[in-house]
Amino acid sequence: EAKGAGRNLVRFFDPEMQRVVAEEASLEADLRTAVDHGEFELHFQPQVTASGQVIGAEVLLRWPHKVRGLVSPAEFVPIAEKTGLIVPIGTWVLRRAVGILADWARNDALAMMKLSINVSAAQLHGAGFVETVLGAIDASGARPECLKLEITESLLVRNIGDAIQKMSALQSRGILFSLDDFGTGYSSLSYLKLLPLDQLKIDQSFVRDLPEDGNDAAIAEMVVALGRTLGLNVIAEGVETIGQKEFLQEIGCDQYQGYLFGKPMPLDQFEAFARANAHSATHGPQDGF
Ligand code: C2E
Ligand code: MG
Ligand code: MG
Ligand code: MG
Repeated sequence: EAKGAGRNLVRFFDPEMQRVVAEEASLEADLRTAVDHGEFELHFQPQVTASGQVIGAEVLLRWPHKVRGLVSPAEFVPIAEKTGLIVPIGTWVLRRAVGILADWARNDALAMMKLSINVSAAQLHGAGFVETVLGAIDASGARPECLKLEITESLLVRNIGDAIQKMSALQSRGILFSLDDFGTGYSSLSYLKLLPLDQLKIDQSFVRDLPEDGNDAAIAEMVVALGRTLGLNVIAEGVETIGQKEFLQEIGCDQYQGYLFGKPMPLDQFEAFARANAHSATHGPQDGF
């Protein structure tokens, strides 16, 4: 105990470490205020089929901070996870997304649009997660099959049994699951067949250097083949160039998300974008899911 405290004390005399700690503490304090005052916003990034048909959006948190400007979730989500604040934030995201789906359910042009939300480990394993999700859906009239929950591999290694049980309960009500950042974690491939998944999401780090990088090309092909074998839909994230899209299409990727199709945007912009692109240019088979 004394030894551990001593080590921490030494760390505080390192000026760079002290700066980082102070910075995190100040962000954390601001984050608590932001939760209490509802300062977050949501942006929506289109998810499309190979023919450009919009099937929905990923919901991404934005935090407009009075002094810092727009703080990236890459910066504040890890702090929110460490402090447990991700649970109230995540519940807020969920309720907002479900409310939007309920509005869309009454709107012909947008009735089948899906929303994909990011779910943290603390949320999934926290008390009452299944009830919170189903309660939000039942209270709103949203279509459960239009709600997709994105989870990461690192989340699964914590408590696979609890994850399977909760995911199965939600999947039996029609809710979809996507495995985000696939390939960057360290979960066993054998988990994949145990989990009630609907989709694999190829991480953008494997998309960035396509089609030139042979290793990334092989990984992308492997993920698509794995998805095919397991009966899962495959989506690629971070698609920025036509070259990347064409390669992914050639290997049989089902869906795409990235700046090439649309950046994360406010709700009204996404709704206009979705109305304009709700139908594919070519009349192929329904390739959404
Ligand atoms: P993610 O779930 O993997 O989301 C994809 C990230 O890639 C988003 O970053 C998105 O803006 C970015 N992106 C999309 N297309 C492109 C592209 O073509 N090129 C490049 N370079 N980037 C692209 P963002 O919005 O900064 O979010 C970062 C991460 O923060 C997310 O990664 C997710 O892990 C987390 N996050 C965001 N919103 C939430 C949330 O509501 N709850 C939780 N728990 N985490 C969230
Ligand atoms: Mg995601
Ligand atoms: Mg991702
Ligand atoms: Mg990612």
